[in-house]
Amino acid sequence: MRSKLVAGNWKSNGDLAANEALLGHIRAAAADLQGATCAVCVPYPYLFQARQVLADSTVAWGGQDVSQFGAGAYTGAVTAVMLREFGCRYVLVGHSERRSIYGETNDVVAAKFGAALQAGLTPILCVGETLQERETGAMEQVIAAQLDAVIETKGVAALGSAVVAYEPVWAIGTGKTATPQQAQAAHAFIRARIATHDAALASNLVILYGGSVKAANAGELFAMSDIDGGLIGGAALLAEEFMAICRAAERKQQAPVQV
Ligand code: PEP
Repeated sequence: MRSKLVAGNWKSNGDLAANEALLGHIRAAAADLQGATCAVCVPYPYLFQARQVLADSTVAWGGQDVSQFGAGAYTGAVTAVMLREFGCRYVLVGHSERRSIYGETNDVVAAKFGAALQAGLTPILCVGETLQERETGAMEQVIAAQLDAVIETKGVAALGSAVVAYEPVWAIGTGKTATPQQAQAAHAFIRARIATHDAALASNLVILYGGSVKAANAGELFAMSDIDGGLIGGAALLAEEFMAICRAAERKQQAPVQV
């Protein structure tokens, strides 16, 4: 059975005092979480704090982006080795906000994915379509291109050390969640696409759903057969809400629903 993961994406939110309370709550509440991993992807300056609060706990932490380059003259960029040095297990690559606001192409995302892997991080590769792409029937083509950029440059085996997050852009931060059936269809497409290269790898791949997940809808989303947890934005800033989502992933692990 695939493991379950719920990762919080704090985006550009937080301050030392609020983080201390949030991380402390998550650390305590996650201690008895069975069969589901809980992680937080925090802004770079707070990685030190995340490591301090979460060290020796069941909660993992990570970055929200990473440089595609190594050390050198890349002003403002943070390398994968630096993230490792601060104890990160995960890093988001290709989040739709990076793609749309900072113009990250599939090639850049693939390079970041490779840099993360090389440093021993687990990249969480974010893919997903805009509303216009969905409405014009281009969803599968867009997601396929996002996956293929990684597969063609890093090889399909690289996905064996990664997590994929399906995040329909129209559902991120909008309060509009994909229906469980819409999300399941996209996840099944992703798994099938990767299975054309390596069926065993695809069937073991953890694929998260992201897009306005809350405690109230996490259970029905996670009940879908190809959804292995969530990438959580807004709700990850609310300790009780985030932990309720983690509990929903735990329930699936304990009693998987076949659909
Ligand atoms: C995200 O930032 O990846 C995300 C899914 O955000 P939200 O849960 O707020 O839609």
